[in-house]
Amino acid sequence: MKTVYGPVSSWRLGRSLGVDLICSKEKICSFDCLYCQLGKTVKTTVNRKKFVSIKKMKTEIIEALKETTPDVITFSGTGEPTIVNNMELAIETIRKISNIPLAVLTNSSLMNKADVRNTINKLDIVVAKLDAPNEKIFKIINQPDDNITFKENIEGIKKFKKMFSGKLALQIMFMSDNIQYADDIVKLVKNIGPDEVQINTPLRISPVKPLTKKQLELIEKKFKIHSMNTISVYTSKKPKTRPLDKMELINRRRMEV
Ligand code: SF4
Repeated sequence: MKTVYGPVSSWRLGRSLGVDLICSKEKICSFDCLYCQLGKTVKTTVNRKKFVSIKKMKTEIIEALKETTPDVITFSGTGEPTIVNNMELAIETIRKISNIPLAVLTNSSLMNKADVRNTINKLDIVVAKLDAPNEKIFKIINQPDDNITFKENIEGIKKFKKMFSGKLALQIMFMSDNIQYADDIVKLVKNIGPDEVQINTPLRISPVKPLTKKQLELIEKKFKIHSMNTISVYTSKKPKTRPLDKMELINRRRMEV
């Protein structure tokens, strides 16, 4: 597998060139979200380690940037990107060869670790997951590793918000399991104070049924009442893109980030 894929047409980030520092046939993640489009997590983990070499990534990025100019380069891929322990070196390496903004799509679960916060603090955009207002719903929807608690997850996001000068977006997947908690989620999000709230529902292939456009509009209004900056998967415009290698996208089963 290549470490670089796309660019994908992202409703959150525009034309996004993906960097996958995991490159595993099986998803490597600290969560096993009900709606995950990568399938079941065989075994959740919180152990950070190296999966691919930065030398390989660098060669592939240089080649890709000869062919395409994305709006953003995004750490994402076959699992939770912050589980890799050579991401900081990857960021420094890409910064030396490109001025394109760097982003990560993270499930937030490792943001309570100082080394993870210090690494993603070097990015321009951090898109962090927050699907639940409490431990009970967190366990139902995200099915986290036993070492992760809801409280620490939220504390990690709050600590990061205090130190980060880039754009922090919170991504929330709404579905039947959390729609009745929308007000509690709004309260929690307001307390964190992100730069943007990304309102999502599983429109891609997923075992979970998506909410309707109307339902998502009503949820979005709840955030807007509090003057929060929102985007929604139903209404956000997606740019046209031409992936460099379609198989690399199909391998990851992510046609969009
Ligand atoms: S955090 Fe992302 S990759 Fe991990 S299980 Fe959830 S949706 Fe899938």
